[in-house]
Amino acid sequence: EGMNPTGSFKARGMALAVSMAKHLGAQSLAAPSAGNAAGALAAYGARAGLSVTVAMPEDTPKSFLDECALYGATVHRVAGTIADAGKFLREHGPADAFDVSTLREPYRIEGKKTMAYELVEQFDGDVPDVVLYPTGGGTGLIGMWKAFGEMQALGWIAQGRCPRFVSVQAAGCAPVAKAFLEGSERTEPWPNPHTRAYGLRVPSPLGGFLCVRALRETKGTAVTIDEDETERATFDLAAHTGIDVCPEGGAAWAALDKLRRSGFIRADDKVVVFNTGTGLKYR
Ligand SMILES: *Cc1c(COP(=O)(O)O)cnc(C)c1O
Repeated sequence: EGMNPTGSFKARGMALAVSMAKHLGAQSLAAPSAGNAAGALAAYGARAGLSVTVAMPEDTPKSFLDECALYGATVHRVAGTIADAGKFLREHGPADAFDVSTLREPYRIEGKKTMAYELVEQFDGDVPDVVLYPTGGGTGLIGMWKAFGEMQALGWIAQGRCPRFVSVQAAGCAPVAKAFLEGSERTEPWPNPHTRAYGLRVPSPLGGFLCVRALRETKGTAVTIDEDETERATFDLAAHTGIDVCPEGGAAWAALDKLRRSGFIRADDKVVVFNTGTGLKYR
């Protein structure tokens, strides 16, 4: 996904959300972000001629902030996590700005559906058995789940054909994994979230319950990965493939190994591991 405009899968959602917001008359857009969503929003907003305001946690690497500034966005650095950045925007953001936060408008998720379409295309009309997805706010996972359901209804793929989804989360912030593994339907806010995989540092995902439902309904599972495992797997994957892997993608790669050893992934399973973005901006 690092080959997308602005270097992450966030472009898929923002391309559609910004287009629809413009179509429906918005002139100003705002969103909190762990980094990549802000960059994508700033770029598509610039192209659409809309003003953009973003807020990111203050420890977000400078390259994410610079990217947004380059596209002419107003950038705020906020103490805390993406949850605090969202609160900041609701209280201090431009009053006329339309909120394109994760799952607060309907179109970002529609854009993410293209990942599922491309999988079906690349699997010659079939689907992989397992999809490993680094999960933060959950739009990637929920969007693909929605798309597979719709493709079944359309008859594009066989009834009941859907990959088993795996949410990969950081051990330092794993509300979806915790809810799933404990058998509850809803996520609870994660205290003191920390991880260098910034896209996974989402302590109270609005759509957490939908992620949990997607994992259950597809007979999937959830895995948590600690920081050392993520770092090792990131290097390992990059060194073997020549792909500049982001930490979130590294975490997903680490999960593959765990799930093979646990037996969740069998030798003949076709598995897709998502590297959700480029590693470039993290340095
Ligand atoms: C945002 C992000 C994620 C998490 O995606 P969600 O749709 O919020 O679950 C994973 N990886 C990267 C690189 C991201 O930017």
